[in-house]
Amino acid sequence: MKKIAILGSTGSIGSNCLEVIDTHPERYRVVALGAGKNLDLLEKQVRRFRPKSAALLDQPLAEELRRRLDKAWGTEVFAGTEGFVRLSQMEEADTVISAMTGAAGLIPTFAAVRAGKNVALANKEVIVMAGALVMAEARERGVSIIPIDSEHSAILQCLQGHPREDVRRVILTASGGPLQGSTEEQLKSVTPEQALKHPNWDMGRKVTIDSATLMNKGLETIEAKWLFDLRVDQISILIHPQSIVHSMVEYKDGSVIAQLGIPDMLTPISYALSYPRHVETFLPALRLAEVGTLSFREPDYKKFRCLDLARAAAETGESMPAALNGANEVAVELFLKREIGFLQIPDLIEKTMTAHTPRRVDSIETVQEVDAWARKKARSFV
Ligand code: MG
Repeated sequence: MKKIAILGSTGSIGSNCLEVIDTHPERYRVVALGAGKNLDLLEKQVRRFRPKSAALLDQPLAEELRRRLDKAWGTEVFAGTEGFVRLSQMEEADTVISAMTGAAGLIPTFAAVRAGKNVALANKEVIVMAGALVMAEARERGVSIIPIDSEHSAILQCLQGHPREDVRRVILTASGGPLQGSTEEQLKSVTPEQALKHPNWDMGRKVTIDSATLMNKGLETIEAKWLFDLRVDQISILIHPQSIVHSMVEYKDGSVIAQLGIPDMLTPISYALSYPRHVETFLPALRLAEVGTLSFREPDYKKFRCLDLARAAAETGESMPAALNGANEVAVELFLKREIGFLQIPDLIEKTMTAHTPRRVDSIETVQEVDAWARKKARSFV
């Protein structure tokens, strides 16, 4: 029986995690649920799964949840980042699902690794910002970090049973998002509504915009570098509009192993929790005859500049990926608020990176300082 704490239980990934857990009550038990601000949904989840602990990032909302659950209910309610850290460290949990969006997940996820919990990781920003620290800590504590991100789940599956030194490179696939066919002129005037219409995946707003700019694939490049101990030049990207091949590993003898499936996050979530087993998800089977064609092409690096920016940050290393990430989070937020245009997203990130002097990432505090600096800097360019 796996005892699970979910950080970010009311988001898209969190809700899917609960569905996987609900399918296998004999395998999984929820011991903690944490959400940002979605009080009503969290209350529903708490009443359904009866966790020992719950947390809301927002203090007044946490108080409200405490009020709604009468004492006899028995779930203790915490608030704020410290509350999330409590969930990460609780003795009853052996696995922590990190499914918060963006930099907010950094402190609680690191705390989980420190507390010796296995982490199922959906929050790629944590690894982008603090990959060296998180991976070193995980090695030291002997805990595993299993990716929920579909591409990295695919790579993990393609690596099973093969010596790591035989790997030549990995190939991350990208759907390309909703704006692949757009001209430069059209990209200038893209609205948030257009950028939020993802053709294949139903995801949160931040990651959907990142998919439209292709920054998502850039962040995933940095994530793959850390999770699988690869050089940046060992990570390639292919646009694959059908989102059936979730990624591939190429070996030194030229053999390429791919993982395929319908585009549904239930599969990588299920695998992250059942690794190395594959257990029933009750998803419809992949019917390749109905899909018909699988196509692949190179991304347009000129039009989608975030890809090269992320690659450059990964090559520079140290705190540059944290600066890139902070600037990107601000740029996405400003774009969603219609304060900047779509093509200004890479502009803000590039200017922030140019202004950044990389620092050695020797502590979480350094990462937080760089993150705060990058956010302020990015805003100053508007
Ligand atoms: Mg992904």
